Amino acid sequence: MTDTIDLEIRELLQNARSIVIVSHIRPDADAVGSLLGLGLPLLAAGKQVQLVLQDGLPEKYAFLTGADRVERSIQSGFDTLITVDCSDLKRTGSVLAGLPAPDLNIDHHQTNVNFGRINLVEAEASATALVLAEHLPMWGLMTDAGAAQCLLAGILGDTIGFRTSGTDSKTLRVAADLMDKGANLPLVYRQTLLSRSIPELRYWGQGLTKIQHEGPLLWSVLTLDDRIKAVYPENDDADLINLLSSVSGLLVVVLFIQQAPDRVKVSWRSAEGIDVSTIAFEFGGGGHSAAAGADVEGSLDEVVGQVLKRTKQLLADF
Ligand code: 5GP
Ligand code: MN
Repeated sequence: MTDTIDLEIRELLQNARSIVIVSHIRPDADAVGSLLGLGLPLLAAGKQVQLVLQDGLPEKYAFLTGADRVERSIQSGFDTLITVDCSDLKRTGSVLAGLPAPDLNIDHHQTNVNFGRINLVEAEASATALVLAEHLPMWGLMTDAGAAQCLLAGILGDTIGFRTSGTDSKTLRVAADLMDKGANLPLVYRQTLLSRSIPELRYWGQGLTKIQHEGPLLWSVLTLDDRIKAVYPENDDADLINLLSSVSGLLVVVLFIQQAPDRVKVSWRSAEGIDVSTIAFEFGGGGHSAAAGADVEGSLDEVVGQVLKRTKQLLADF
């Protein structure tokens, strides 16, 4: 059944001639996969499409069809603006500064603040790419093998290879459909989840030497200096948080990634039943119950102090 919102979106896309699609800073597989997985079908439908990531496309996703089209800023005029996998406008960075609210906000975060004119937000979906895979046909858009592979990358990224608690049978059915359309699961799995560079491992090494824990809470820190020493080219955590989360017996893991002398990216991961998205939201960020993040102003020491204090309060209430 096609809902009213799908009819509204179909009309928006049919009337659009020149579309800008934007996703979030420090892009992950779901950001990139959703950006391309929507952009490629729109291009195939004859639309002009600009794909924008403020931090550019991380090298590990260069194998995806359309990767070479990603720009760091809007290059020319457009009539329709869409964001994917962003729970608030701050997540897009500053590329949309001074522009009216997006026409369409497609996302799966429970903390989404519905900043678009049309908001397609499915908080129970395991990835934004999954939302797209399900809705594209209702908008009259075709998913070819290239687009299917991008969408599968998004789903694999956010479910960490079908193993997060949000991975339901629908996720597997949609992934199977994407494989039938031509997506190569082993290739996408290898590229998005297994393949590592030497700088990434060096960067992990820096973080691993600084692990601290107090009971069921574990945390570590990655400084700007660690990034320079490791010659790591991105500004994320290189997925170190997933490695830290593999330690058994933990309830919460927090990773602090220094972005500037006065700004720190914080990542939380939690065991079932502990909602870290509420704390992330308090610190100006957002996310899901078991995985959340925030960009926090302050020196590394200040942010570590404030965030650990608040996280320990949450654990004390548990
Ligand atoms: P990560 O810790 O891997 O960066 O992100 C975990 C989850 O929290 C993801 O769903 C991500 O989109 C969300 N998230 C991470 N950082 C931020 C942030 O600064 N703001 C918001 N709104 N969400 C974030
Ligand atoms: Mn996502």
